Amino acid sequence: MHVHKNDMVLVVSGNSRGKSGKVLRVIPDREKLLVEGVNIRKRHTKPTQSIPAGGILEREQPIHASNVMVICPKCNNASPVGYATVAGVTGRKQKMRVCKNCNEMF
Ligand SMILES: [Zn+2]
Repeated sequence: MHVHKNDMVLVVSGNSRGKSGKVLRVIPDREKLLVEGVNIRKRHTKPTQSIPAGGILEREQPIHASNVMVICPKCNNASPVGYATVAGVTGRKQKMRVCKNCNEMF
């Protein structure tokens, strides 16, 4: 997946287009993401033990990873990413993402 947990992303298509937020969770086998504040659905719930009053719960619903672009932490632009393999501090090869806007790895 080109998107990781805690990335900032911009939604570029779908109902939430134009919104941005932090990735709360990645669901790799479905290629979906939970993004903070994006695609919120209201759910009416009956009273339960944890929510004795019941009421309306607002929760993010997953969106497809192809609908977002990662916001590059270096240049702050929503950019396509490429990949580079570099030797990390331990000498082990590490796959890094490369911003196609500013060419920085992150
Ligand atoms: Zn960048």
